[in-house]
Amino acid sequence: MGVYEITACNVDSLSIVRKAEEIPVTRKTIAIDPGHGDKNDSNTVIDPGAVNGTFFEKDFALDISNAVKSKLEAKGYSVIMTRTGDVYDIGERLRWRIDAAAGKDIFVSIHNDASDNRSARGFSVLYKKNDHESRKLAQAILDSNTLFRGRRIIESTNYVLRNFSGQSVLVEAGFISNEDDLTILKTKTEEVGQEVAAGIINYLEGP
Ligand SMILES: [Zn+2]
Repeated sequence: MGVYEITACNVDSLSIVRKAEEIPVTRKTIAIDPGHGDKNDSNTVIDPGAVNGTFFEKDFALDISNAVKSKLEAKGYSVIMTRTGDVYDIGERLRWRIDAAAGKDIFVSIHNDASDNRSARGFSVLYKKNDHESRKLAQAILDSNTLFRGRRIIESTNYVLRNFSGQSVLVEAGFISNEDDLTILKTKTEEVGQEVAAGIINYLEGP
C-alpha cells in the first residue's frame, strides 16, 4: 500500500468552480395594447369592440392583456400597457395607441374576433405587412395557442401595425360571437394571456 503524502492543500481543486459571470440579457420592452375601450365625456363607452350579450371585447382584451403583462414581467421584461381601463377622448384615429407605445421594441395588440356566422371560431394573429420579424412573432404566438381551435396568421395593413416602428402583431383571441370560444374567454382568460405571453417569450428567447 502506498503512502500518500500530502504536500499542500490544493486550493484550486477544492475551490468551488465559479460560474462565468452571468451577463445580463438585454431585455426587450413590450407594448401591450388592449383593443377598444374608448368612452366619451358622458362616461359612455363608445367603442366596446365586438359584443355578445353582456360580454364586450374591450373587457376580454384588457383582462387577457393583464395576464400577458404579468407573465412577461415575471420573466423580467418591461411592459407598458396602452390603456389600463376605459379611456376618455382618445381621438378618432388610433394614433394614440402608437404614441403610447413609442420607444418600445414590440407591439402586441389584443382583440377578439366576431362574425355574423356564429359557427366561425378560432385564433388569428395579424402581422405587419412585409415584415419578416413581425411574421415570426405572429407565428410564435400562434404556435403557443392550444385553447382555441382553428388558427392562422394573416399579413395586414392595419393602421396600428403599419405605423409602429418595431415588430407589431394583432392577436384575435377567439370569436366572441361563437359560444365555444366565448366559454374559453369567460373561463380561461388568464390562460389565454399566458399562452400569448409564452409565444412572445418563445419568439424572443427561442422555444
Ligand atoms: Zn377588436
